[in-house]
Amino acid sequence: MILITGAGGYIGAHVNKLMHDKGYQTIVLDNLINGHKEMVKWGEFIEGDLKDTKLLKSVFEKYDIEAVMHLAALASVKESVEFPQKYYKNNFQYTLNLLNVMEKFNVNKFIFSSTASVYGEPEFIPISEEHHLKPINPYGKSKLMVENFLLEKSKKSDFNYVALRYFNASGADLSGEIGEIHVPETHLIPIVLDVALGKREKIAIFGDDYPTPDGTCIRDYVHVNDIAAAHFKGFEFLDNNKSGIFNLGMGKGFSVKEIIESCEKVTSCEIPTIVEDRREGDPAILIADNKKAEKVLKWKSKFNNIDDIIESAYNFQIKI
Ligand code: UDP
Repeated sequence: MILITGAGGYIGAHVNKLMHDKGYQTIVLDNLINGHKEMVKWGEFIEGDLKDTKLLKSVFEKYDIEAVMHLAALASVKESVEFPQKYYKNNFQYTLNLLNVMEKFNVNKFIFSSTASVYGEPEFIPISEEHHLKPINPYGKSKLMVENFLLEKSKKSDFNYVALRYFNASGADLSGEIGEIHVPETHLIPIVLDVALGKREKIAIFGDDYPTPDGTCIRDYVHVNDIAAAHFKGFEFLDNNKSGIFNLGMGKGFSVKEIIESCEKVTSCEIPTIVEDRREGDPAILIADNKKAEKVLKWKSKFNNIDDIIESAYNFQIKI
C-alpha cells in the first residue's frame, strides 16, 4: 500500500488516480485545509494532520505501507513571506514528524514533492539540478530544508528518497474528474480561464518590462499528469536502493502573453488584460533542464503542446 499525503490537493489527486490506475491500493491523508474531499476519489481517505503523531502511528499500524508520497504542504509563496513560521512548521517540522514515524515502522521509501523555488534567482537557463540553491522565500527555504534533511538521512541509513522539483504544474486529468482548485486562486492559467468563463473581468499581467522577447515572465508549464507519472517512475526507481533529485518540467518556456493567447485560442474568447506592477520575487525566466529525469527515471513529459495543456484545464474548469 502507498500512503499519499495531500491527495486532496491538485497534484496529490492526480498522483492518487495514477497509482490507483497502476493497481496500487492507496491510503490518503489530508487535513482538508487546502485540499478538497471531492478530489479524493480513490483509496482509503483519512482526514488528519501530519503533526498528529498518534494518528500517523495508527495509520502505519493498521496498513502495510510500502512507500510514502508526501505532497501535503503549504504552497503559497506570498503567504510564506507573510507567515514564515507557519511554513517552516507545516512544511519542515511536520515532515520530520512523518519521517520519524516512518522510521519507527521501517518504511524506507519516500517520494517528496519539492519545487523549482529551491533554486531562487536563476543564474543560467535551463536550470539543471546542479544550479545553486538559494531560495528567496520561506516556501522554497522550507522545501530545501526537507531536501537537506533527506540527504543526511539517506547517507546514514537504508532510507531512500526521490525529491521531485516541480516547475509550473498545469492542466487537468483528461477525464475531467479532477483538476486545479485553489481558494483563492493565484495561478495564471486558471485565472485566465476564469476570465474566458466570465467569472472575472480581466487578467492582470504582473509586469511587461522583463528582459524577455515580449516583456512578460516565462515559465515552464508541465502537465499535472506528467508530474504524476514521475511519481510512479520515482517509486520504481526506489527499488534500486538509490536516492535522487529531479527537475520536472517540459523543458520549454511560455510567456504570460503566450499563455493568454493560447487560452484565447482554446476557448475562442477574447481575454481582456491590464498590465500591473511586477509581483515581488518573480524571476524573469524559469525553464527546467529535464535531462536528468529523462536519463535516470526514463521520464519525459508527454504533454508538450501548451494548447493541449490549457484545453485539459479548461475542460475541468468549465464544469466547476
Ligand atoms: N501571473 C500574472 N498574473 C496573474 C498570475 C500570475 O501575470 O494573475 C504571472 C506571474 O507573475 C508568473 C506567471 O504568471 O510570471 C506564473 O505565475 P503562477 O502564479 O501561475 O505560478 P508561479 O510561477 O508563481 O509558480
